[in-house]
Amino acid sequence: KKRIVSGVQPTGTIHLGNYLGAIKNWIPLQNSYDTFFFIVDLHAITLPYDTQQLSRATKDTAAIYLASGVDTSKASVFVQSHVRAHVELMWLLSSATPIGWLNRMIQFKEKSRKAGDENVGVALLTYPVLMASDILLYQSDFVPVGEDQKQHLELTRELAERVNYLFGGRKWKKLGGRGGAIFKVPEPLIPPAGARVMSLTDGLSKMSKSAPSDQSRINLLDPKDVIANKIKRCKTDSFSGLEFDNPDRPECHNLLSIYQVITDRTKQEVAHECQDLSWGTFKPLLTEALIAHLHPIQVRHNEIMADPAYLDRVLAEGARKAADIADVTLNNLYQAMGFLRR
Ligand code: ATP
Ligand code: MG
Repeated sequence: KKRIVSGVQPTGTIHLGNYLGAIKNWIPLQNSYDTFFFIVDLHAITLPYDTQQLSRATKDTAAIYLASGVDTSKASVFVQSHVRAHVELMWLLSSATPIGWLNRMIQFKEKSRKAGDENVGVALLTYPVLMASDILLYQSDFVPVGEDQKQHLELTRELAERVNYLFGGRKWKKLGGRGGAIFKVPEPLIPPAGARVMSLTDGLSKMSKSAPSDQSRINLLDPKDVIANKIKRCKTDSFSGLEFDNPDRPECHNLLSIYQVITDRTKQEVAHECQDLSWGTFKPLLTEALIAHLHPIQVRHNEIMADPAYLDRVLAEGARKAADIADVTLNNLYQAMGFLRR
């Protein structure tokens, strides 16, 4: 079976962008792939954060995976920091990562500009190396991500090729390795719709957990009235009718796209249904569709959170399965890099 890994940071509450860009797409993949879905808590400390919230957000995120349909009889669900190999591999990979590659990363530039110098730690810069470890440890074939992670995934691919070239050559073969193939080079899996959900208050920036205003996003666990209120107050325009793909109407494109994926319809169907609607007619339709989709997930989430022992079991089992695979890759690389092994 081909392998898939993906994860979300427990940096705040999971929002519609994370759900439509990542989690929702994992569900059908579980049937035909060997899947690993993790909560990337080590990534969550790359900007100042609340230590009181981290473990709660980690559990919440895991519970959202399960509530959204991740099936633990098929997929491994675990917490990144429970599998030590992630951090260890990161150090080894760091030695093969040119700083210039990291300086080019758009997310680093954006996040560091917003955070201010004082708050930018080295880890914000080296974040993509940890992400590469997350993926390469499992010899993943595909990585389902939103558009915003495309550049990081490209770096992961380049890094895998570089390490294969530097350490996977003939020298390693003599030591019994599979020359040239320390890491599998993974492919991104970007959903055709929902890959880039935009902010409710600005159709030109992506919906984000770390954006300061809660009004800018629909959180997966937002109660009905909060969803209704956010949609009521979200940014629109004064054109008549509704349409996709008009560059002067980014908010309109975004809201129609959300409506399309959440109701499981084609773009054509939605374009046709909505072409003559006013905002006043469309907004309640969108609100209803969101509530209908999210409510059952919220109910299951509450049930899962009410049984902490169950969640602990799932995460322990997931970490065990993940560590078994991760350790093999890590040990191969130590060997290929010439370390004295115990
Ligand atoms: P942060 O602001 O802390 O970086 P985030 O909202 O970007 O949070 P991540 O945990 O970084 O969320 O990303 C988790 C997954 O969700 C990734 O696969 C990412 O591509 C996807 N994702 C994040 N934001 C969006 C979005 N607005 N639209 C579609 N996919 C998204
Ligand atoms: Mg992000």
